[in-house]
Amino acid sequence: MPLASEVLQALRLGLPEDVRVDQSVETRAASSHDTWPVATKLAALDEHPYQADAVVRLESFDQVPSVLRVASQFAVPVTVRALASSVTGQPLPVHGGIVVDVSAIPATFEVNEQNMTVTVTASMNGGELEDCLAKRGLTLGHSPQSLYRSTVGGWIATLATGQFSSFYGGIEDLVTGYVVVLATGEVVELKASPRAAMGPDLRQLFIGSEGTLGVITSVTLKVFPVQPMCLTAFALPSVEAGLEILREQALVGLRPMLLRLYDADEARHAMVDPEFASPVLFTGTCGPQALADVQMSLLTDMATKRGGRDLGPDSVQAWMGRRFDFSTVENLLASEGGYAETIEVAHNWDGIQQLYHELKQVLAPLADEVLSHFSHVYTQGTSMYMILLGKAPSNREALERLRTIWSTTMQVCLDNGAELSHHHGGGLARSPYSRRSLGSAHLVLEKVKAALDPAGILNPGKLGL
Ligand SMILES: Cc1cc2nc3c(=O)[nH]c(=O)nc-3n(C[C@H](O)[C@H](O)[C@H](O)COP(=O)(O)OP(=O)(O)OC[C@H]3O[C@@H](n4cnc5c(N)ncnc54)[C@H](O)[C@@H]3O)c2cc1C
Repeated sequence: MPLASEVLQALRLGLPEDVRVDQSVETRAASSHDTWPVATKLAALDEHPYQADAVVRLESFDQVPSVLRVASQFAVPVTVRALASSVTGQPLPVHGGIVVDVSAIPATFEVNEQNMTVTVTASMNGGELEDCLAKRGLTLGHSPQSLYRSTVGGWIATLATGQFSSFYGGIEDLVTGYVVVLATGEVVELKASPRAAMGPDLRQLFIGSEGTLGVITSVTLKVFPVQPMCLTAFALPSVEAGLEILREQALVGLRPMLLRLYDADEARHAMVDPEFASPVLFTGTCGPQALADVQMSLLTDMATKRGGRDLGPDSVQAWMGRRFDFSTVENLLASEGGYAETIEVAHNWDGIQQLYHELKQVLAPLADEVLSHFSHVYTQGTSMYMILLGKAPSNREALERLRTIWSTTMQVCLDNGAELSHHHGGGLARSPYSRRSLGSAHLVLEKVKAALDPAGILNPGKLGL
């Protein structure tokens, strides 16, 4: 539906002439897909059910307040789109309106080597920032598989986490402050400081809000010195043995930078060896060399006492080299009838094994391969990935299969009291389950939303809002 002429007029008044309010069919169709496999299959079928009425590609975050004020005044939905690496349909404009594309906003950053922080424009590509920091011997410590295809603002909006989270933590541990534009156009700074006890920690409010509460324009993140690493892999007799190691190392206070426990099905891929027949644990420690070594020696003790066999560093080193590669999934999705899905969930130690076995069983008939690994570990539990690869007779059937995979997985997680997402977020994929997942806490989200976004313009249809 085209935007009403008074909305168009008001938008144009607040924007420089060269910022187009693009209502072309092609641009609207292109912004109706992200990297969610369901959206990818819809694109392959030339179906665009989640279309904006217009796309505005901003040149500066200074242009956000005027767009939001107009949208609030006319109650037009606004969905922010960065690099659209979301794998859950988060940036899809399910209720139409305006897509605000921030991906082309020029980014700058400033490092404070005394406080060990970097302040960066939210549109900055994460990989580019990491490469710039590396030249100074620094790292963000945040290394999602999508590092080179996602923005810093996107990380905050999605509560992202990275492959080295056991050492550095998730993005919620790495952000120290940021600037956000509210739906009503006010610009708010959540100040960067080590810690503050002046009321609730408001900095947590917008982290993971998926563009439903405000538009993040600038972010301050911690940075760390790059440290030596120690890597090795252990072949293990069972997933259970691996889970015990993950739990024990967390309880005694080790801080490895890498922990990836693959079940036997995924171990074949991780080891790039179709004959590999047991679960495998990839580990890495870092720090001053003596500390990295002693942590690795303790991990080795924990693995060997459970029947683990040290395979040396080669397979982990090879994985480090290809850790941003997504081609298996992309190639499968690009083929007629091919489908692939990665669903990450989380559970406590007392429920994770049951959840793993149940999901493996119910998902087995839905794909050619059901792979699983555990990779973000806490004292009370862990995240778990289920990865499904399959080939259906047609793209239409692949799409149906993907939808069944989602509904089946979400139901099993709800039945087991598990968390529906560890870090990919709610998006469109999980929005229908938001209320059941959050329970009575969903009321808080609804009230915060009503207070901060009274016209309900920001990314409606997500997080059960
Ligand atoms: C191959 C692959 C691997 C991945 N691996 C990981 C991983 O290891 N860890 C992980 O956490 N995620 C991973 N993801 C998911 C994805 O990369 C993250 O969710 C990422 O944080 C999204 O960033 P983006 O810039 O692409 O945002 P988009 O996908 O464009 O948007 C995501 C959501 O954030 C909102 N948003 C974006 N920018 C802003 C802003 N400035 N202000 C307010 N809201 C905003 C959007 O409205 C939308 O709701 C992976 C995805 C892919 C394709």
